[in-house]
Amino acid sequence: MSFLKKGSKSYSIFYLQCPRCQEESMFETGSWSFKKSFDMRERCSKCNLNYNPEPGYYYGAMFISYIWTAWFCLLFMGIFFWGLGFPQNTAWAMLITFMVVNFVYIFRISRLMWININVRFDPNAIQKYGPAH
Ligand SMILES: [Zn+2]
Repeated sequence: MSFLKKGSKSYSIFYLQCPRCQEESMFETGSWSFKKSFDMRERCSKCNLNYNPEPGYYYGAMFISYIWTAWFCLLFMGIFFWGLGFPQNTAWAMLITFMVVNFVYIFRISRLMWININVRFDPNAIQKYGPAH
């Protein structure tokens, strides 16, 4: 399973790890704890990466979120309504429930997708930029 291996962008995105060192979550709380859901750390405590390089940095994450959730909804309906033959109302209700339950996680991985466009994984990030320096 190289898809979710450490060092890959998908690892950083789906586990919400710092895009540079992948040693720490960018968020303080769990995605389903529904506490401080939208509070992000300012910096990575391991490699010192600034998560907010400029004001409005995550504006673009909204567009990313919009694009991939639209595709996701289409796929979800495709599987349950057309593929498995669920009644349309049931399939919609399932989709909406799924989106509500996972709303925080969806918000977070969209931010991770965005920052991962600009920040590259560096296996030596902690030695190079860590707080010890
Ligand atoms: Zn880091």
